[in-house]
Amino acid sequence: MAAQQVELAYEDHPSFTCHCSAVIALQDELVSKAFSGRDGRGYLVYSTSNLRMGKKEDRRLMTGVHTVADVYCIGCNARMGWYYVKAAELSQKYKEGKYLLEREKLIKENGWKLNI
Ligand SMILES: [Zn+2]
Repeated sequence: MAAQQVELAYEDHPSFTCHCSAVIALQDELVSKAFSGRDGRGYLVYSTSNLRMGKKEDRRLMTGVHTVADVYCIGCNARMGWYYVKAAELSQKYKEGKYLLEREKLIKENGWKLNI
């Protein structure tokens, strides 16, 4: 697969990057930092870049069964978290179409103002 890294318009914008330096998400895309990933804390974000999606599957999470697809960095193929395709519980529907990123996989770049 010939994937190219997306050049983001705002280069000085606070962002999350992968360890391989691919930009994964901007600070502005952060919805919540109070999430759990598979191995630790996670961030919920509206949108991401430089990720490719794996296979969809149903997964039982702490908040019920969700249909998710793992997402991988296109730069180094590391698993960065997952995409919420569908939530079974009505109270969890707001997650649909958003991404859960594993905190330990991310590096914060460029003058973050938020203390997270
Ligand atoms: Zn990477």
